[in-house]
Amino acid sequence: MWLAMSEEAVIKSDVLVIGGGVAGLSAALYIARQNLKVVVVAADIGGQLSYASVIENYPGFESSSGLSLVLKIQQQAQGFGAEIIIDEVMLLEKRGDVFIAKTKKGLVIESIAIVAACGKAPRKLGLANEDLFVGRGLSYCVICDAPLYKGKAVALVSFGEKGVENIELLAPLAKEVYYIVPYQKDLSIEHAKRFANVKIFEGYKVVAIHGDRKLEKVVVDRDGEKVELSVDALFVEMGFETRIDFLKPFVDLNERGEVIVNNLGETKTAGLFAAGDLASNTPYKQAVIAAASGVIAALSAINYVNNVKGLKKRIGVDWEKKVKKVERRFRL
Ligand SMILES: Cc1cc2nc3c(=O)[nH]c(=O)nc-3n(C[C@H](O)[C@H](O)[C@H](O)COP(=O)(O)OP(=O)(O)OC[C@H]3O[C@@H](n4cnc5c(N)ncnc54)[C@H](O)[C@@H]3O)c2cc1C
Repeated sequence: MWLAMSEEAVIKSDVLVIGGGVAGLSAALYIARQNLKVVVVAADIGGQLSYASVIENYPGFESSSGLSLVLKIQQQAQGFGAEIIIDEVMLLEKRGDVFIAKTKKGLVIESIAIVAACGKAPRKLGLANEDLFVGRGLSYCVICDAPLYKGKAVALVSFGEKGVENIELLAPLAKEVYYIVPYQKDLSIEHAKRFANVKIFEGYKVVAIHGDRKLEKVVVDRDGEKVELSVDALFVEMGFETRIDFLKPFVDLNERGEVIVNNLGETKTAGLFAAGDLASNTPYKQAVIAAASGVIAALSAINYVNNVKGLKKRIGVDWEKKVKKVERRFRL
């Protein structure tokens, strides 16, 4: 069993934050600033914001790329002592007051509290060798990586309005675009027909990808009819999904698949908090809301940890008590 690992291999923290998006990093910043040991395990830094080329509605930033905004929060969190590990949490257990998480790379992290800020990740094709080609010709972000394939042959799997947007970006740039639309009569198809260098595969699915050191071939299939395409890149933009199987024993989900939390970010499991797009307290999926929800979960986690440690220290919910104290002191 994976928990039977040597003591030395275990990383101990007060709070484990899962997720390197705006919610997780904002949470880490607050927790680290309270001098608690916070470890962030993040499959990537930036999360969904790395797919946003321009953000114009994050207060205090007139215009910024999504990624540079998140990198600033990361630096701020690290400046206060947050430790960031690029990895993925795969399993979670709770033994008494302690959570034990295991990562893809085999790390074991013990923590008193958890802030889960796993947000959403690009929907994958589901092919066994898919991860091998990420960054080697396979991309989940047209806007980020299209310029790398100027004058090359590329395939795109997408649909709907996003498909239209992606075709608009790729067609003028690439030599040839194989547009694979899993659904028939999709609204993006008529639009794609306007471009002479776009070849449409309507109702096809990608069933295999091949390559030596980088992606070279994409095999598509419609009702058993297979076509092999030679490409330099494959872009997959099929929306985003939540991948939180490891959390499911500890939380309830609502009809939208969000983790149900109360207004303090608490889930049904003591010590486990959820934040950001993952959580039910963010009705609008926006960066500033995710950041705020990360902070709510962080403050609740700080109180929880201090309580478990038997410390009297407690962050109040508002300034009222402090103001009253000042008023009493100065007889205002
Ligand atoms: C293309 C696009 C444009 C957008 N534009 C705007 C905009 O202009 N303004 C705005 O306010 N909002 C915008 N948004 C929405 C905004 O990006 C999200 O609301 C916000 O990023 C959510 O942050 P989050 O931290 O909750 O989740 P995410 O950003 O999804 O981050 C989740 C993090 O968790 C990590 N993770 C997931 N599972 C695990 C695991 N098991 N182990 C370790 N790490 C894990 C991921 O790798 C990622 O780092 C946009 C979103 C997209 C996709």
